[in-house]
Amino acid sequence: MNGIVVVGTGQAGFQLGASLRESGYAGPVTLVGEEPGLPYGRPPLSKAYMLGKTDAAGLALRPEAYFAEHRLTVRGGERAVAIDRAAHRLHLASGEALAYDHLVLATGSRNRPLPVPGADLAGIHQLRTLAEADGLKAALAEARSVAVVGAGFIGLEFAAICAQKGLPVTVIEGLERPLARSVSAGMAARIEASHARAGTRFLFGSAVSGIVGTDRARAVALADGREVAADLVLVGIGVLPNDDLALSAGLRVENGIAVDAMLATEDPAISAIGDCTSVPSPHAAGARVRIESVQNAVDGARCVAARLTGRPSAFTAVPWFWSDQGPLKLQIAGLCQPHDRAVSRGDPESGAVSVFCYRGERLAGVESLNRPADHMIARRLLQSGRSPTPDEAQDPGFDLKALAL
Ligand code: FAD
Repeated sequence: MNGIVVVGTGQAGFQLGASLRESGYAGPVTLVGEEPGLPYGRPPLSKAYMLGKTDAAGLALRPEAYFAEHRLTVRGGERAVAIDRAAHRLHLASGEALAYDHLVLATGSRNRPLPVPGADLAGIHQLRTLAEADGLKAALAEARSVAVVGAGFIGLEFAAICAQKGLPVTVIEGLERPLARSVSAGMAARIEASHARAGTRFLFGSAVSGIVGTDRARAVALADGREVAADLVLVGIGVLPNDDLALSAGLRVENGIAVDAMLATEDPAISAIGDCTSVPSPHAAGARVRIESVQNAVDGARCVAARLTGRPSAFTAVPWFWSDQGPLKLQIAGLCQPHDRAVSRGDPESGAVSVFCYRGERLAGVESLNRPADHMIARRLLQSGRSPTPDEAQDPGFDLKALAL
């Protein structure tokens, strides 16, 4: 028996191994990962870890002893370079080949590079791995002014930390609002206002044309001729799925490794999970989506582990996500974009508000800002398929919890 080989020791790869053991799988499980060390969680990298509130040990998904106890072999620092599908063998950069009965691709995603002159100067950072977080954290301790390129989740989380530390920070965004692809216009406005109150400056509709500096970054140049002075630049302009291994093995790739509703590729011996996959989603009327979140990685891994241990079922888990930005805890349940109607519930004065997003008559998703109870109710509503009407959702007297039970 060759067992199950997993490429990727991130959130999805780790969970697959853990869930296989929970499901009673007794064969060999080997996790191959390019990053050194044991699996760790990325969310704190732009939150507690960047603030110095937790250390590297605090990021570990499990202590070292867990992997031995559960007979999960983790091969960190090893890159998989090719899949021989006919021979069921995974080739590593070292020249070694691992035989598998089933292969699970959990290769995640990588930072989208900033395609402008000067993007490789010292002082320019991206944030995906622990190593990058360490580099950014050290630079933050020395920085006098910060520019963040991209008003996405990671950019905003980092901007909030800079503002908390009293550093002047400017967020440069090509679109007209923050989180334009991720949250409703109303929610984006609330988030922007909170950051602005904390001192963060926003430049919307601004294209970056280059990074100015000789040996290290001095400023970010904009296409309209302006310059934003900064000795630390964080580029957070999204990620690209790591689907090259699948592509070169002849598997279908469509904004990530294309899997079916069971998270299987067209090769019955290969599945794929997490950030690297695009999946037809019942929460998007069957459209293919690629989701970058801990929930998607964890629930996808559980779904594949169940199938590989004889309990197959489609991947229907409700997507959910969170982001902590200074005083803001944003939680999203469901897939809110696109929507054609949004109504609010909560207290606009205190800033604790949920936005209920509808496609047609149906609730598509709920964005909650500092309203964690609404988020939990929203997840239950979406999982059960029960949809309050927009009038009910915005009526503070309507008992949403009772509807969700
Ligand atoms: P990853 O965790 O990226 O793991 C993939 C692993 O595969 C990597 O270690 C990679 O090196 C390895 N790999 C790739 N190719 C190969 C190869 N050929 N050979 C060997 N190894 C390979 N999500 C949330 O829900 N909430 C949050 O608040 C949140 N905050 C985040 C903050 C940061 C800074 C980042 C970077 C992400 C955050 N996320 C958050 C997203 C979340 O961490 C990811 O969606 C999740 O890690 C995806 O898990 P994954 O296993 O699919 O991919």
